[in-house]
Amino acid sequence: MIHKTVGLILRAIDYRESDSILTVLTRDYGKVSLIAKGARRTDSKFTAALDLLTFSELVFYEGENLKLLKEASIVENLREVKREYERLEVAIEAIRLAHVLIEDDHPDLNVFELLRGGLAQLGHVSQHALWALAYKLKLLRALGFAPRLGQCASCGRNLTPELWFSPANGGLVCQECHRAGDTRVEAKLAQELRMILGISWEKLDRLVLPAQDITLAHRLLDELVGYHLRSVQ
Ligand SMILES: [Zn+2]
Repeated sequence: MIHKTVGLILRAIDYRESDSILTVLTRDYGKVSLIAKGARRTDSKFTAALDLLTFSELVFYEGENLKLLKEASIVENLREVKREYERLEVAIEAIRLAHVLIEDDHPDLNVFELLRGGLAQLGHVSQHALWALAYKLKLLRALGFAPRLGQCASCGRNLTPELWFSPANGGLVCQECHRAGDTRVEAKLAQELRMILGISWEKLDRLVLPAQDITLAHRLLDELVGYHLRSVQ
């Protein structure tokens, strides 16, 4: 059976003499692995359609073990993102996170559109660290494990003025529920995270957040991701 879809190339690893095994986030089939025969030959028919961080139209069919890529043509190559090293680094980190967090073969249009819209906007924003934070938060939410920011993630009661972030509980916890190792945070940080979740990509650059808040939020979300990945292994 032949399949046709649009996909974002998340990872490519060398296989045999001239083939590549690609991990692709597709619009219609979720995250899939495809083998592209002869992709590393200089005269490969796939050309730049299989470059990392490229949205391509893909035609593939089910082989015996792996899905075999038959055709690929570029839909969007994110030139604005790739033009500047710092943006490119942020984008590579973004697709690495998608690669580790998104399960295989679970099509989800929300997640696909989040990457499509987010990466397109990355080419135009001036605040890269803020973009990366928004992406991380929105991706976690789209995958169903956004941090709980409204009530205590442990007891469910209204949050106390003193707050902690608890990766084990999946969000903010109150004074009674916090444990050693949780990070004390200001209420302002919780507000900022909620604001980021509520804002569109187009308006994101208008937000002004202190750099140390962005750095701290990144660290807390990384702890949350780490906790989640350990619990699913
Ligand atoms: Zn509590």
